[in-house]
Amino acid sequence: MAAQAMEGVAVTALRSVMGRVQQAAERVGRDPGLVRVVAVSKTKPISLIRQLYDAGHRCFGENYVQELLDKSPQLPDDIEWHYIGHLQTNKVKSLLATVPHLSMVEGVDSQKLANHLDRAVSAIGRKPLEVLLQVNTSGETSKSGVEPLACVELAKHVKSECPNLEFRGLMTIGMPDYSSTPENFKTLSNCLDAVCKALGIAEEQFELSMGMSGDYELAIEMGSTNVRIGSTIFGPREYPKKQG
Ligand SMILES: *Cc1c(COP(=O)(O)O)cnc(C)c1O
Repeated sequence: MAAQAMEGVAVTALRSVMGRVQQAAERVGRDPGLVRVVAVSKTKPISLIRQLYDAGHRCFGENYVQELLDKSPQLPDDIEWHYIGHLQTNKVKSLLATVPHLSMVEGVDSQKLANHLDRAVSAIGRKPLEVLLQVNTSGETSKSGVEPLACVELAKHVKSECPNLEFRGLMTIGMPDYSSTPENFKTLSNCLDAVCKALGIAEEQFELSMGMSGDYELAIEMGSTNVRIGSTIFGPREYPKKQG
């Protein structure tokens, strides 16, 4: 009973988030249909993910490889899994082998990681993997991501050297405790601007992944196309053990 009651709460929370996403988009005259909500299910049980799936949600995000490897085989194949945040190169092979339908990697932050992903995708012979490049917009050394000035070079590398990857845009994690400031979001959108100019591509086709539980409405008002929302949907997280 208790578990069921909790699951109901997550579905209600997701609906409320969807409503707020729509309102935020409409406030600035954007099409709400162009904002994806990634339900970040890290540390949360399969049963809760299943509940949101049954309510019609398909896009979920995880940021520990082992957890995604455990969960994805137990859940339907039409889930669009996003791997979010820093990814270690030595985990790339098992990630692609176990989750061959992985939808997107949000957090490519080096040429080395791009090359590993490119080879792993090629090895399993699937369609190109969509990737977002992670940019460190807050200047904190604890955060992964390339410096804003380096994102053009990394985007060029992915476009020209990684035929099995599809460059889809940029992502950032803002200030500590996940309450990004507008400056971080502005920086990310300036970066996309620079990348699109350098590569001669149209900005509208690309994604800005920014905004989490504490700041997704602001992020959408500033142009986010992809918000990553964990605790507001699933409740606060507990970290029982070291993971990776
Ligand atoms: C955990 C996580 C989120 C979700 O954070 P909430 O504040 O719980 O919404 C978003 N992005 C990344 C990269 C994360 O690791």
